Amino acid sequence: MPTGWHWYGTFPIGFVLQLPAVVGRGVEECELEGEHLFVAATLRNGDHSIQTPAMTDTGAMGFAFIDENFVRQHQFPRYRLNPPRDLEVIDGRPIEFGQITHLTKISCQIQDHTEMLPAFMTKLGHFSLVLGIPWLQRHAVVTDFVSNSVRFQCPDHRNPPAAP
Ligand SMILES: [Zn+2]
Repeated sequence: MPTGWHWYGTFPIGFVLQLPAVVGRGVEECELEGEHLFVAATLRNGDHSIQTPAMTDTGAMGFAFIDENFVRQHQFPRYRLNPPRDLEVIDGRPIEFGQITHLTKISCQIQDHTEMLPAFMTKLGHFSLVLGIPWLQRHAVVTDFVSNSVRFQCPDHRNPPAAP
């Protein structure tokens, strides 16, 4: 079963996450898989700013996922999803992560790139933030596994518009 959203027509009905397999193992092992890259992200909620590693996941079809306990801990705003989205885990094990019922929207800075990031709330265990394929595509992100960094190729997001 491939990792990512399961689609019913154009409607995402479920999400298969590799994280249950990743959770419990060290970051080094994740990196050895060659598909996850950790970058430093600064999340801001009013005057409150938090630094956290963000994991880019080329297997995640959702835009972004954030750990629900992390959201509670830092009192990020929560918005209800209507309808909630069913979540599955890989290889059909019980839905230990349950449904996704909320998302948050927070200011997220990675390197010199800042955006208002919408993220689905779920249980991510060891990880606070996962950035999926749509996010990588939206910002035309190039991942560099050698320097463990990302390069944004979206000039309209990265820099203020040039003066006319
Ligand atoms: Zn961008």
